[in-house]
Amino acid sequence: MVKDKYGVLKEYFGYEQFRMGQEELIDSILQGKDTLGIMPTGAGKSICFQIPAVLLEGITLVISPLISLMKDQVTTLNQAGIPSAFLNSSLSNRQYSLALRYAKEGRYKIIYVAPERLTTAQFLKFASESKISMISVDEAHCVSQWGQDFRPSYLKIKEFIHLLPSRPVISAFTATATEEVREDIIHILQLKKPNVTTTGFDRPNLFFAVRKPSNKYTEVLKILKAHLGESGVIYCATRKNVEEVCNNLNLDGYKATRYHAGLSDQERKDNQEAFVYDNSPIMVATNAFGMGIDKSNVSFVIHYNMPKNLESYYQEAGRAGRDGEPADCILLYHGQDVITNQFLIEHGSQNEELDEETSKLVKEKDRERLKIMTYYCHTRDCLREYILNYFDDKSENHCGNCSNCMNNFEEMDITEIAKKIISCIYSAHSRFGIKVIIDTLRGSKAKKILRLHLDQLPTYGICASLTEKKLRSIINFLVLKQYLSITNSEFPTVGVTEKAIDFMNEEHILTMKIVEEVEDSTVEQS
Ligand code: ADP
Ligand code: ZN
Repeated sequence: MVKDKYGVLKEYFGYEQFRMGQEELIDSILQGKDTLGIMPTGAGKSICFQIPAVLLEGITLVISPLISLMKDQVTTLNQAGIPSAFLNSSLSNRQYSLALRYAKEGRYKIIYVAPERLTTAQFLKFASESKISMISVDEAHCVSQWGQDFRPSYLKIKEFIHLLPSRPVISAFTATATEEVREDIIHILQLKKPNVTTTGFDRPNLFFAVRKPSNKYTEVLKILKAHLGESGVIYCATRKNVEEVCNNLNLDGYKATRYHAGLSDQERKDNQEAFVYDNSPIMVATNAFGMGIDKSNVSFVIHYNMPKNLESYYQEAGRAGRDGEPADCILLYHGQDVITNQFLIEHGSQNEELDEETSKLVKEKDRERLKIMTYYCHTRDCLREYILNYFDDKSENHCGNCSNCMNNFEEMDITEIAKKIISCIYSAHSRFGIKVIIDTLRGSKAKKILRLHLDQLPTYGICASLTEKKLRSIINFLVLKQYLSITNSEFPTVGVTEKAIDFMNEEHILTMKIVEEVEDSTVEQS
């Protein structure tokens, strides 16, 4: 009979030691404290609630949004000798009642349950009559409207806990670490003085790069040549892209397979297996692929298109190099990717659970996130630092293992130009988009500029010697550094921030890394 966490780790899961953060989280739960674990994908969240579940008396309920994942986890647990079950809409009424009956008889140690089941009469009755020692909320960011994956059914969790005769210990886990989301989780789930443990988000063995090739497919072939015989994933934005890239790779002699929501269940399953067992070491897929897939020897992840936010990007890219070996995460950017994502945000399939007001908020947040993702593709700073800062993780300034750190950019003093840009926007009362500001600064005679009397501004034409491209990249940089802000509206306008006002009155040198290469710069469409 195993009685301590080390014993459970070894006997049931077959591991010799804990990974970073796991022990802390497990101890916290075992001490009866509410616990919030923030760990990147693949860090090993599951055993942080599964081990306490084995050690605690009574039953642990695990709330999870993903039906397919529940089934896999429950299968694995039962194989490991931990009696478990899941309760969700994939069960028939009969199966569901039977599972509940067994649960009542105390046959299970861990029960996975979909959030929408929690407050049904049948489930509530069971929960009130059983000894529930812990409730563990997986993918806890789904509770937050600011998360990339808000699920209103997660709001039922709080209601459910209130309805229980006694309050179990609550643990929550997520890979999303932004401050807002973290606070929402604590607040909405009403965690009591939670012990919050964040394990480092950095994956030092991953090399990050952004490339802007004129032909993406040729670039893919180049990358594959550098990874001959290795396994990797190529993420595309659309099913059509998946089909195209996969076909071309097969014609070019690569063993590639495909995965997207338009394929039959059987084909998806077969292709996934072919990839996992290295029969087709290259997987071309939409973002439907990857959840719950545990393949350690993925040595590259290529993004054929820019994803819609940095959360998704880091999660998908993070499927590379789980074995700790060096791996490449390469994003192939084109301005069109921004437009595609904008279209998806405005017209893409709505989350049907959302009311109109919430849906508006979510859209606004999605636009904001897209902007942050887009800046990732434009920043000259360390890419790793950019990602880690976004996830509130401290990081060194210069990782030496990303395309920006490896490139020799020229450091240029932009203090004067920045002041000119800021005063132009300021004197135009922050009413215009980037294009109009650029035209004004360059002294354009365009009808629109004359009609708006912008040629009357003292800043008209003061940057006439700079190219539109250069001005645009400096403005992007100023937005990135929060000297300028862009409104989230149909016709985005650019404004100055407090920081910019301070900057105007200070003796502060501002520098920016500039490359003299040809690239496209379609960030905004203003
Ligand atoms: P997450 O939910 O954080 O994405 P998982 O819980 O699915 O990650 O774990 C990812 C992988 O790491 C799984 O294969 C799991 O078995 C493995 N793992 C977890 N903890 C350990 C450990 N202490 N030692 C070795 N492997 C571990
Ligand atoms: Zn770097």
